[in-house]
Amino acid sequence: MTNVIILGPPGSGKGTQSKILVEKESFFQISTGDLLRKTVESGSEEGSKIQRIMENGELVPDEKVIEMILSEMATNNSKKFIFDGFPRNIAQAKALDNAFKEKSMILDFVILLEVKLDFLENRIKSRIAESDPNNVRKDDNLETLNKRLSVYQKITYPIIDFYEKKNKLVRIDGMDSIECVTEKIIQIIN
Ligand code: ADP
Repeated sequence: MTNVIILGPPGSGKGTQSKILVEKESFFQISTGDLLRKTVESGSEEGSKIQRIMENGELVPDEKVIEMILSEMATNNSKKFIFDGFPRNIAQAKALDNAFKEKSMILDFVILLEVKLDFLENRIKSRIAESDPNNVRKDDNLETLNKRLSVYQKITYPIIDFYEKKNKLVRIDGMDSIECVTEKIIQIIN
């Protein structure tokens, strides 16, 4: 049973690659971004709080995202997981470690999609241009992107070192074509 984390800055292609791996390799995708967007759509009071945090490009409190992750893992027991957008800080990484230990599961690979900053800006611009105008992600604008990038560099970046020390980290050039990145990931996990 292979379990993988896809790591990388906003716009690096984590979601795109995870969805392809669900199709091609039968992974079960756990995307905190997607789960949070669902909570926002539910229109609850909690949803509007989360919406404000996401629109500011900040991190939703650990308590909430960890609870979501644990519940997804519990209800989809014995699937092979691909984590996308989680963990995003050391506390989340440690919580995931504990969850794996408790379930006697193994984290096999942390795949880091490396993409240069100016590339990310262009990607987000094209994502906005390609979106249905009524359905552009509220956090897909250059101001929020800059905030998301700075959160990534300050808060998420340290988990690269955390997984490198555990010998789990594999770096991939995320600036290659989508097909090429998928190909490399499949080679690594098999
Ligand atoms: P991206 O990877 O392009 O930034 P995501 O869909 O993964 O997009 O995340 C969008 C937003 O959702 C983040 O900017 C953050 O506000 C929130 N979010 C997603 N995952 C987490 C997480 N693990 N912890 C805290 N906040 C999160």
